[in-house]
Amino acid sequence: MNYYVLTLFPEMIENGMNTSIIGRAIAGGYLSLETVNIRDYSLTGNGRIDDYPYGGGAGMVMQAEPIFRAYEDLIRRIEKKPRVVYLTPQGRVFDQRMAEELAREEDLVFLCGHYEGVDERVLEEIVTDHVSIGDYVLTGGELPAMVMMDSISRMVPGVLSNQESGQYESFQDGLLEYPQYSRPEDWRGKQVPPVLLSGHHGNVDRWRRDQSLFRTLKNRPELLAHAELDKKDRRYLQSLLDEEGSSGLTAEEKKFLAKLLAF
Ligand code: SAM
Repeated sequence: MNYYVLTLFPEMIENGMNTSIIGRAIAGGYLSLETVNIRDYSLTGNGRIDDYPYGGGAGMVMQAEPIFRAYEDLIRRIEKKPRVVYLTPQGRVFDQRMAEELAREEDLVFLCGHYEGVDERVLEEIVTDHVSIGDYVLTGGELPAMVMMDSISRMVPGVLSNQESGQYESFQDGLLEYPQYSRPEDWRGKQVPPVLLSGHHGNVDRWRRDQSLFRTLKNRPELLAHAELDKKDRRYLQSLLDEEGSSGLTAEEKKFLAKLLAF
């Protein structure tokens, strides 16, 4: 996977990405990263790339031409026309499924906005995907671009070591992950659940699945509504409803669950 990032702050991207697992993957050649400083394409030659918004209003807008020149120069050099992701709070919200889909690309270009945003005309000209990382506003697109690249990279073969990959992860099957424990068995009087010490793989798997169902119900019930549930899952969820008051579910959660199981 080759990433190209059009940004006003290349050092932010490079420092963030050349660290930890992603940094190791770049060094190992599983990923490549090129940042393009949009300021180098300033029309005035002094690095200025923003101007006042037509129609008035607060803040500055990134001009179309420096971004377009930076993009044109990039695609001329790499001789490809990859998908161009513009990070914007107005875009489709990024999720695991989108990460999986984008991980199938060979090249991706990210355009990071700043200030009040980017002149709409250059977005119309070069952007293929408008993506948000959530319903809040950040000062720039660099962190969202790094969030996306980090998540996408995890699915690129070779990026995760054998130890890190192949594990069950949240969202993989539409559920949140079960709780994790490590040594010691007794930490300040809190014990590791005995089933995890039993060595019985079947029981461990069932316990983990039940915990995933329970967590998803508590924290992200809307995910549970779309997850594939088999007979054993339904039996476990039904048992939560039957456990009079001891399941730790609120009346509202029980109501939601009863409705879910009725289908
Ligand atoms: N005026 C813009 C609006 O209301 O849509 C917000 C501009 S924001 C202050 C500056 C830049 O940060 C945006 O151009 C975008 O690149 C980035 N950004 C901010 N929040 C984001 C989010 N939730 N997801 C992705 N990018 C975001």
